Amino acid sequence: LLALFSLGTAHAQKKKPMDKKQEIEQKVEQLLAKMTLEEKVGQMNQYNGFWDVTGPSPKEGNAAIKYEHLRKGWVGSMLTVRGVDQVRAVQKIAVEETRLGIPLIIGFDVIHGYKTLSPIPLAEAASWDMEAIKKSAQVAADEASASGINWTFGPNVDISRDARWGRVMEGAGEDPFLGSRVATARVKGFQGDDLSAPNTIAACAKHFAAYGFAESGRDYNTVDIGNATLYNTVLPPFKAAKDAGVRTFMNSFNILNGVPATGSSFLQRDILKGKWGFDGFIITDWASIREMIAHGYAKDGAEATVKAVKAGADMDMESHLYVAQLVKLVNEGKVDIKLVDDAVRRILRVKYELGLFDDPYRYCNEKREKEVINSKANHEAVLDMAKKSIVLLKNEKNLLPLKKNGQKIALIGALANDKNSPLGSWRIASDDNTAVSVLEGMQQYKGNTLTFEKGADLTVGKTTFLDEVVFNTTDRNGFEAAKKAAASADVVVMVLGEHGFQSGEGRSRTNLDLPGLQQELLEEIYKVNPNVVLVLNNGRPLALTWAAEHIPTIVEAWHLGTQTGNAVAQVLYGDYNPSGKLPMSFPRNVGQVPIYYNQHSTGRPTNSDNNVFWSHYTDVEKTPQFAFGHGLSYTTFKYSAPKLDKSSYTKGEAVKVSVDITNTGNYDGKEVAQLYIRDIAASLSRPVKELKGFELISLKKGETKTVTFTLTDKELGFFNNEGEYLVEPGTFKVFVGTSSDNVQETEFELK
Ligand code: BGC
Repeated sequence: LLALFSLGTAHAQKKKPMDKKQEIEQKVEQLLAKMTLEEKVGQMNQYNGFWDVTGPSPKEGNAAIKYEHLRKGWVGSMLTVRGVDQVRAVQKIAVEETRLGIPLIIGFDVIHGYKTLSPIPLAEAASWDMEAIKKSAQVAADEASASGINWTFGPNVDISRDARWGRVMEGAGEDPFLGSRVATARVKGFQGDDLSAPNTIAACAKHFAAYGFAESGRDYNTVDIGNATLYNTVLPPFKAAKDAGVRTFMNSFNILNGVPATGSSFLQRDILKGKWGFDGFIITDWASIREMIAHGYAKDGAEATVKAVKAGADMDMESHLYVAQLVKLVNEGKVDIKLVDDAVRRILRVKYELGLFDDPYRYCNEKREKEVINSKANHEAVLDMAKKSIVLLKNEKNLLPLKKNGQKIALIGALANDKNSPLGSWRIASDDNTAVSVLEGMQQYKGNTLTFEKGADLTVGKTTFLDEVVFNTTDRNGFEAAKKAAASADVVVMVLGEHGFQSGEGRSRTNLDLPGLQQELLEEIYKVNPNVVLVLNNGRPLALTWAAEHIPTIVEAWHLGTQTGNAVAQVLYGDYNPSGKLPMSFPRNVGQVPIYYNQHSTGRPTNSDNNVFWSHYTDVEKTPQFAFGHGLSYTTFKYSAPKLDKSSYTKGEAVKVSVDITNTGNYDGKEVAQLYIRDIAASLSRPVKELKGFELISLKKGETKTVTFTLTDKELGFFNNEGEYLVEPGTFKVFVGTSSDNVQETEFELK
């Protein structure tokens, strides 16, 4: 007996407590074992929440069908359900009325904030400040989770080189290295360290994959790219998101080399779930399973369903196909139940991780909703982010910073007095007209005389998320008053650019100019007073050829969200010294697009470095107007030549590159030091420059700091056309400087 007893104790001592992961796996299996096929398929179905769930039950139409499905347990997730009341009501149906009571996962497009809006994501990327970007995602998660949401459809990590594409506003620009760092920061910001905490939400890396390479920048268009581009440019930010622990991916509308991404086993099963070992779930993009019929890839809904499930798309967003087809297809033997089980496991796993089974209402906290949304702290955080996102493109004549006293300032342009447009696109939860306008921001500086004239209305008619923006092209009645104000001013500040809803989904453009009468107004004002500070509001790179040649000072202020006016005014008045750098090249004209810094050399260079090309257009310079990485400060920085700790390295060894940077101007400031490399000869042609390091530093007037970058195999290699990562010996050039077109170089051998 004693022996038995002691054996038992020894056994008990040996048994380790299950870790959280194991425990979740066990619960997932136990639940899965109880589920009927219908219930499993239900988990794979996501519906948009169109109706008022707290009101009377819908009796007819789509809403009635969705409501009935919800009560049967045939819905695993809902999106765009607004506010704690609504979330609580749908969750209550799922938890209390269905047989197994499996909670819903509530998704929402929290793209740059929930109610308190940060700058659009492209603008945030211009900060090159990963802590600030992470913080901004945290604020968004904090507000969204307080409103019942537990999953955002972000970050958008699509690399794009085409400013015509309206969705560049949602991403981090053209570069995979910067894009990967931003993806990591956003995922960590949304998800925090503990997904089950009530103020963190699951993130979603989208759109998998290559959506940003739509031909001619036309949204949803064909994508036809080679493997080298896919592996080296498109996929790295997705991989970074996966490595940062992102719990979901969204597939994409486009075809990639003939196969719709939604039906692509290569992308979803081979790469994401296979090679990368992703164990969260994939949501389709909106009705993208059904779109495979229009793509000519499936003859009907049944075939589209089979192809999507086989390819690894786990949850159907609004195609209504899994719920309609899948049970039958499994019963007919056309879809293996194992594929359904795999999808359901993934979905349940994330629900457990979010803590939804412990308390399905954990995200529904009216008290927190009231406290957190639009809190002072959140407004301060988005103001900080907004200031950091501003890029000073040009500052001649020292018009900026503005003097604080005794100046006459004319503020011109309808956007200067707009409280809606600066909020930017993709802001489904926020209230209209909640931005601080530039006019309001500038009015706080009382030492100057400020006169505002709009010059001309920007738009005519309604401008909502769903309407195409229509610009005023005829009514010049305000021109004279604006010219009069400009003529008598010391400095003219003009706020011009795109309307907030001119970028975003379905908002491609063939022109990258200032729309409506704005260019004409700019030229008219310049004639009466050339001391113009042009403040741009836009969701994509613009072609600013005339302005870049004539206007002495240009500030890129994007769509900066709720705190726009305060951020712009603080920068214009020098209370904040700008440090943003462009995450995307600005072309001289639209014919240059796609234009990007990490291009390949043509076979016809005109210099021995093989980086200046004869290949050119006859009617425009071949360089961009403003290069990737460009951005000025009110102070100036001097870089020493980069130094290497050795001249040759063996593979695997760390390459250390250091540079001294001195603040040589009259203001304290921040600088983003950038490091690029070029692999001179390799088994695949490598770009003439590739960003492989950057550091944001603060320097007081006169101060010098040494920045040391480290390059390892992770930075020096590349993917071949088979997707294998290679680090090849040879000569590498290293460039360090203040932008992709302003660097000093050195080189080393890799042995
Ligand atoms: C967009 C996605 C978005 C989804 C849900 C789609 O049209 O492409 O990015 O998350 O709608 O709103």
